[in-house]
Amino acid sequence: MLRISMTMDSLRVCIGHSMIKWLLLILLAVGVYLLVRRPARGTAGPVSGSPERMVSCAACGIFLPEKESIRSGDGTPYCCEAHRTAGPR
Ligand SMILES: [Zn+2]
Repeated sequence: MLRISMTMDSLRVCIGHSMIKWLLLILLAVGVYLLVRRPARGTAGPVSGSPERMVSCAACGIFLPEKESIRSGDGTPYCCEAHRTAGPR
């Protein structure tokens, strides 16, 4: 009986050690992940709030990146060729 409890204890110790090892590994992985990810977010992060200029279509008012807009002769931005032909509202 004593011997069985001894082996159970050593088994528990074994499990405890491997769990700590796994926890350390997970912590290390999370740390590396955060370290790798943070600078990427700092440089390439502003995808949604990019410094790209947004213009609004003079016909329908939709916002679109300036480089995707179509300009009329006087520089008025439009979202598409159809709205450029239709002209401002
Ligand atoms: Zn439009």
